[in-house]
Amino acid sequence: MSLRPYIVGNWKMNGTRAMLSEARAIDRAAQRYMKVEVAVAPPYTLIHAVHREAEQIAVGAQDCHPGVEGAHTGDISAVMAADAGAKFVILGHSERRQDHGESNELVRTKVESALGAGLNVILCCGEPEEKREEGKHEKFVLNQLRLSLPEEIEEPGDRLTIAYEPIWAIGTGRTPTLNDIAAMHASIRAFLVEKFGEEQGGLVRILYGGSVKPENAREILSVENVGGALVGGASLTADSFMNIALAAGDGEDQ
Ligand code: PEP
Repeated sequence: MSLRPYIVGNWKMNGTRAMLSEARAIDRAAQRYMKVEVAVAPPYTLIHAVHREAEQIAVGAQDCHPGVEGAHTGDISAVMAADAGAKFVILGHSERRQDHGESNELVRTKVESALGAGLNVILCCGEPEEKREEGKHEKFVLNQLRLSLPEEIEEPGDRLTIAYEPIWAIGTGRTPTLNDIAAMHASIRAFLVEKFGEEQGGLVRILYGGSVKPENAREILSVENVGGALVGGASLTADSFMNIALAAGDGEDQ
């Protein structure tokens, strides 16, 4: 178990083998920032290659099918992602929910399958803008978590991470206020403690995601209950991504 800040890059549908040089540079820098846990989720096609190159960073998948194997053209199971070198999987990302109509119930079956295959899970949640305007954002997010999480998880403090990503902040350059981030993360923490108990619920890291950049990382990461960041656009170059990691580690090489 690690209480180090967790900085995770989500490369989305970006990256050919030419991106391996960025992965190498991220890995080299991560060896100097030992106060921070750094990980990258490249597209499936690069998981094995990044895993082979990486000495320090963990490699993850961006999704998985809920099944183990079978007639599901184009899908990848958690077992297959693990076999390629993935240590974790991002599930329930809003782009999956929007582009592929993924329901909370489907996400829950994926979480179960991933944990069963030995992968750790980063479960995403986050409200659309209209829910925040209506003041229903907290209810929306907690309901997503309630329905997307299995009834029981062994050692959730080790195996589970939550990423709070307001949909309207993803890739837009907009972020909630620090007070708004603090309020949502406090609600998620209270939910986790109620579900998993004081000790384990207190250990699950809650990442913030949505337009995190080197310029705003330090203040966002200093908010209570923010245990790291899930980073999209700014994770595509080692330079910007590792400046976020540097901010997470108090701005010093360690
Ligand atoms: C994301 O999609 O997980 C994300 C946080 O994207 P961005 O950092 O580009 O807003």
